[in-house]
Amino acid sequence: MWINLLLNGNYKLNTLPNFIFDLSNIRDCVKNIPSYRYSQIADWVYKKNVFSPAEMKNIPLGLRNIISEKYIYEYPKIVKQSNTSDKTIKYLVELFDGEKIEFVLIKSDKRNTFCLSSQVGCPVRCKFCASGTYGLARNLFSGEIIAQFILGNKLLGKAPDNVVFMGIGEPLLNCNNLIRSLDIICSNEYIGYAARRITISTSGIPKGIMRLADQNKQWNLAVSLHAPDDIARAKIIPDKCRFSINEIVNSCCYYFEKTGRLITFEYTLIEGVNDSLEQADRLCNLLNDVRGKVNLIPYNQVIGVNFKRPSEEKCVKFANRLRNKGVSVTFRIEKGTKINAACGQLRASNIDNKITENI
Ligand code: SAH
Ligand code: SF4
Repeated sequence: MWINLLLNGNYKLNTLPNFIFDLSNIRDCVKNIPSYRYSQIADWVYKKNVFSPAEMKNIPLGLRNIISEKYIYEYPKIVKQSNTSDKTIKYLVELFDGEKIEFVLIKSDKRNTFCLSSQVGCPVRCKFCASGTYGLARNLFSGEIIAQFILGNKLLGKAPDNVVFMGIGEPLLNCNNLIRSLDIICSNEYIGYAARRITISTSGIPKGIMRLADQNKQWNLAVSLHAPDDIARAKIIPDKCRFSINEIVNSCCYYFEKTGRLITFEYTLIEGVNDSLEQADRLCNLLNDVRGKVNLIPYNQVIGVNFKRPSEEKCVKFANRLRNKGVSVTFRIEKGTKINAACGQLRASNIDNKITENI
């Protein structure tokens, strides 16, 4: 049905599409469906990875036709791919309405990681990030988030060792669909992937952090702090979606109390903005209030952005200052800076028209 609407060019987002990858609403879509029929369909989708109703041989034709009408069942389409020598493959993926997102497969000898997007564009618009360049086009539907996971399984030939929500978008500004997709990915009734292998990265949305805490699941939380004080942070994140460090830290404490899970604080190092040793000291002080470790990410050059990556020496000094004060620190060196590797760059460089901000 959706495909026909699209082909006829009269698609409007006033009726919400359903995706076969998210069967949690099947009882709303197919009235009075018997439980055993539902289980059979779920078995095709989540165990056998068969998505086309036509291939679901043990389902009666009438029901197959209803499913075909109600659900989008095609994989999102890969329209571009860029590889790096270090086994990071970035896919530009076209959604059912022509919008594009990125899905990244990071392979290494030790583990394979999927990097998923949560929105088309991003409303937060951090100054160093290509994902936010044109603002937000729309939220991803839960089915589109799950579809990335399923697509990744197909590309890799098996489940990943880790999943990170570090692609395009701010997951906690799409909280309903994020949580719904995580429930499907992690629940044994559906895909059954281990929650503790999943990391949700947020620019720091306190209400969203508390909502995640209340789910009481084993997901990992990463908070993109980037600065130890609100003044330095304001140089990186515009006012509209930026919350005070105080509020963020309080929500992180709540998260730790509720879940007992350590939080990772991501810190993109930018020359002259947040890389001084004095700022490292203030970051240490902040971490006295909230339990967590720090992941340093030297800024990855984005075309048109007036920030610079600090020298390696400066990054190491910053890291050592934290370590000497007992803070646990890791470095994330972005892989493949040559191929539009920073988050959102592949999409930004393939955008024809600017997106109209839509929040
Ligand atoms: N919106 C979420 C998740 C997506 S961004 C968030 O902000 O956390 C994932 C991570 O990539 C964030 O920590 C972000 O700061 C970092 N990032 C994005 N663009 C970058 C760039 N050009 N250089 C370095 N880190 C970048
Ligand atoms: Fe959005 Fe995260 Fe990029 Fe900021 S860093 S613009 S929050 S995707």
